[in-house]
Amino acid sequence: MPLYVYRAKSPTEACNACREGVEVFQQIREEALTACPECGTPVVRIIHATPTVRDSSDKKLLSDDNLKKHGFKKLVNTGGGKYDEVV
Ligand SMILES: [Zn+2]
Repeated sequence: MPLYVYRAKSPTEACNACREGVEVFQQIREEALTACPECGTPVVRIIHATPTVRDSSDKKLLSDDNLKKHGFKKLVNTGGGKYDEVV
């Protein structure tokens, strides 16, 4: 389910939740909220944040620590046909 972030139109009328942006899980076909679920002040949708789980796990898999742990070597091309072993 996508995560949406709503923020109060007017920061002076906002509660602690919608001043910084309140996160709401909604079905895609659900209508956008027009009021903060906490205080009822008018809000606008600012972000549709779909979790990108795959990206972060790829990054972790290829981290230096993880490569080292699994016995891989990581070589960095330093130019001129030379490679530095960094892991
Ligand atoms: Zn609020």
